Amino acid sequence: MDKRWIGSLAVCIFLLALGAHPSVARLSEGNFVPFSQAANSFADSQTKSYCIQKGDTLSKISQRYNVSLENLMRNNEMDENTILEVGHTLRIPAARGVIHVVVPGDTICDVAERYRVSMEDLVASNSDKNPDFLEVGDLLHIPNENNIRVAQSVPEPSRSLSMTKLMKWPIVGTISSSFGWRKAGFHHGIDIANKIGTPIQAAAAGTVSFTGYKPVYGLTVIIDHPDGKQTLYAHAQKTYVHKGEKVNQGETIAAVGMTGVTTGPHVHFEVRSGNKVSDPISYLRR
Ligand SMILES: [Zn+2]
Repeated sequence: MDKRWIGSLAVCIFLLALGAHPSVARLSEGNFVPFSQAANSFADSQTKSYCIQKGDTLSKISQRYNVSLENLMRNNEMDENTILEVGHTLRIPAARGVIHVVVPGDTICDVAERYRVSMEDLVASNSDKNPDFLEVGDLLHIPNENNIRVAQSVPEPSRSLSMTKLMKWPIVGTISSSFGWRKAGFHHGIDIANKIGTPIQAAAAGTVSFTGYKPVYGLTVIIDHPDGKQTLYAHAQKTYVHKGEKVNQGETIAAVGMTGVTTGPHVHFEVRSGNKVSDPISYLRR
C-alpha cells in the first residue's frame, strides 16, 4: 500500500513539474512586457548595475561613475540617510541623462524646473512627445545631466542660488498636498505627512525668528536665513528652539503634530522671500 502511495505521489510531482515547466519557459521567451515593467526596462538600457562592496559610500560611487550624487540617489530612491547594504545592486544612471516618469499633474515646465534644464532642451530631447499633452507614464529623457552636475558643484556667485541647492527636507514623508492652487485656495507651501512626533529639521542654517501659535498654522517655527529667505514649519506638536537661536541645517527644531487647521499629522513647509512665497520643491534636494 505504502509503495503504491509513494508511487502515485511521484507521478503527481512529475506531472506538476511537467505542467509548470512549459509555462515558465513561455513567460521568459515571450516578448510581452507588462506596463509596470516597461518603465524600468527603458531606463535599464541607459543604466548600469553596480553591486555594493564593503566600504562603499554613495559619494564614492558617484565619483567613480562620474554621476551626480543627486542623480544617483534619485535613480535608486535613496536619500543621504539611506544605509548601503553590501551585495545590494545600485542602478548607475548613464552620465548623459536621467529618465523621468510622468506623474499626474506634471507639465513640461514643471519637469524642466525640477531638473534645472531648459524647456527647449527638454522638448528637443523628447521630440516624440507632445509637450502640451504629457501622458501619465510617459518617459521623459532629461538631457545634460553633466551640465546639471557642473552647475551644482561650481560655487555660485549669488548666495540665494547656492542656498537653493542646499536645502534639506524638513522631514522624510509623503507629500500630501503640493504648492499652488487647490479647492480651498492658494496653498503657500507643501504638506509633508508623517507620524506625530517625527523630528522636524531645519532646511538650512539660520536664526529662529518666530516660535509660537498662529491661527490656521498652529504651533509654528520660522527661520531667517542669511540670504534673506525664510522657511516656515507649521502644525508642530512641540518646538525645541527659541526666538533668536541660531540653528544648523538638519538640526531638530520641532516635532510633527496636528495643531492649527489640519486633518492629519504633517508639517506644512513654506519658503518665503520678503512677502513672496515660492514652491519649496524647487529648493529641496531630490
Ligand atoms: Zn499646508
